Amino acid sequence: MDIILFGPPGAGKGTQAKILEDKYGLKQLSTGDMLRAQIAAGTDLGLKAKSVMDAGELVSDEIVIGMIKATINTAEAQKGAIFDGFPRTEAQAIALDNMLESCDRSLAVVIEMQVADEELVERIVKRAEIEGRSDDNVEAFKNRLAAYRSYSAEVLPYYKAKNLHQLVDGARGVDDVTINLCQILDDLS
Ligand code: ADP
Repeated sequence: MDIILFGPPGAGKGTQAKILEDKYGLKQLSTGDMLRAQIAAGTDLGLKAKSVMDAGELVSDEIVIGMIKATINTAEAQKGAIFDGFPRTEAQAIALDNMLESCDRSLAVVIEMQVADEELVERIVKRAEIEGRSDDNVEAFKNRLAAYRSYSAEVLPYYKAKNLHQLVDGARGVDDVTINLCQILDDLS
């Protein structure tokens, strides 16, 4: 089963993805995590991506599509993937459909985790204290939030038109959100 967790920065996609990975045997594919791994490893790709990410802007389609292509059909992702932070453009969404189709798979659902801006800012301030991500400062965060509002308006209609979109209230506690997500996934399988 292949699913997308879609939501603003700080919505809890990563937290929920880890829980769902264990419960359903799926593999979380987070383009943000992959990019941060490239930066940590000091690769050319990481170097290129860092300034773009720190500004809260989008890395090129070519780079992120390439990263998903390299991981979508690995042994760990055979039972399906949880796409987290991908796709962020319609071109990425189309590429994802094609990549899934070429391994005889298709998306089961696109779950939008909805959280209000004020709550997100609070969460990010806390996360910055714990994780120290260089793009978790208020300025970059505002840019990422603005970027989210704009790219979600590009990507979500694509999935709404395919009847794949479902909405979840992400403002509640972790456990409540998990219960909700599991209901959706259990209904599908
Ligand atoms: P968040 O959801 O907290 O903004 P992510 O870890 O998903 O964080 O992404 C961090 C940054 O990585 C983004 O601001 C963007 O610069 C880059 N990025 C991640 N995924 C993509 C993508 N699919 N397309 C373009 N840029 C991406």
